Amino acid sequence: MLSLAAARSLIEQHVQPLEPVATPLAVARGHILREDIFAPDDLPAFDRSAMDGYAIDAKDLSPKFRVVMEVQAGQAPAQKIGPGECARIFTGAPIPGGASQVIMQEDVERDGEWITLRERDKKTWIRYRGEDARQGELLLAAGVRLRAGELSLLAQLGTVQPRVGCAPRVIHFATGNELVDPSAAPGPGQIRDSNSTLITALLADVGAHLVAQDRCGDALDTLVQAIRQHLAESWDCLLISGGASVGDYDFGTRALAELGFQVHFGQMSIRPGKPLVFATRGGQIAFVIPGNPVSHFVTFQIAIRLALERLEGAVSSWETVSLELAEDLPAKPNERHTLWPVHVGLRDGALRVWPLSWQSSGDLRGLLGANALVPIAPGAGGAKKGDCVDCVLLAALP
Ligand code: AMP
Ligand code: MG
Repeated sequence: MLSLAAARSLIEQHVQPLEPVATPLAVARGHILREDIFAPDDLPAFDRSAMDGYAIDAKDLSPKFRVVMEVQAGQAPAQKIGPGECARIFTGAPIPGGASQVIMQEDVERDGEWITLRERDKKTWIRYRGEDARQGELLLAAGVRLRAGELSLLAQLGTVQPRVGCAPRVIHFATGNELVDPSAAPGPGQIRDSNSTLITALLADVGAHLVAQDRCGDALDTLVQAIRQHLAESWDCLLISGGASVGDYDFGTRALAELGFQVHFGQMSIRPGKPLVFATRGGQIAFVIPGNPVSHFVTFQIAIRLALERLEGAVSSWETVSLELAEDLPAKPNERHTLWPVHVGLRDGALRVWPLSWQSSGDLRGLLGANALVPIAPGAGGAKKGDCVDCVLLAALP
């Protein structure tokens, strides 16, 4: 059976990034930058004052200086200063010709149009042209996610329409004759559909765009019809919840075959979530996800998320961080690779790991606060409170 690493590498191999789109800064937040950004000019572009004060020639040893002009931020200095002269200057204002130092106003005695210096600082208090970056320097590499810092840098550079990865458009169908809407009272043998809500939230977490969601029962034709109702051009990723296995009513794989998808794998040697199906049709991708809610969560995090990030053009990683267990991790050795949902949180100034209770793949309390997974290799067991375990973080650190 396919290992997790092999499954992830098949996904990387078969999912190609969507065409990037020039996007206004106001809506580019959270998207992946898809072009390298170089400094179009020196940064800062001109020598400017780092203080409110007076601009003088550092070599001018006059006992006092006459204030001959004022330069505010946003003004171009009208003239140069000469010997014995200075300019009143404010933070961010361009340094006038003839000046090579700014004296902080706190170090100056002013008397009408004259100043005397109480102190001569060694610092020039000038932010020099090109001090932050030289023209042509690489400032942002393609692949970074645009957050406040990156977006404001782009604004500073005048890159107001960066090319970013598109949010993948996802359609989702929950299969199962037993499912009713969460607002309904289940009849005999029925259960509420919780996976649609789970998938909606997980897609929002990764910035994907859920364009359609529906519930269909366990009939092949109904499922195929429901999918066909959505024009092929209108979505990038199809998710089918349930029906991934080999039961008589598990139609996921057959539906994909009927729709012309090529299946790349149908099982992974992991738990929970063994029967995950991955398929592609041209640039479109599809997964059939095992119906159990914990399987849903785990397979989304380890496989579907990778595919969605790759569509967006993000660089995914499977880096782990070693953290101390706040409680025992009661895993029993298993032949499959186990991914145990945990909560990583702060206690006494350190990040620690709380394993979530995992009674069965259907127990949703096992996902409360889940923000990391602890991978447990085939054959390896659990660990004790106080031991360090490797964690794959699923969210920004708490
Ligand atoms: P399946 O993968 O379709 O065989 O489903 C496996 C288990 O997950 C069954 O117990 C289903 O009733 C349950 N299940 C399937 N879909 C959902 C859903 N949308 N919400 C909650 N449980 C589900
Ligand atoms: Mg089912």
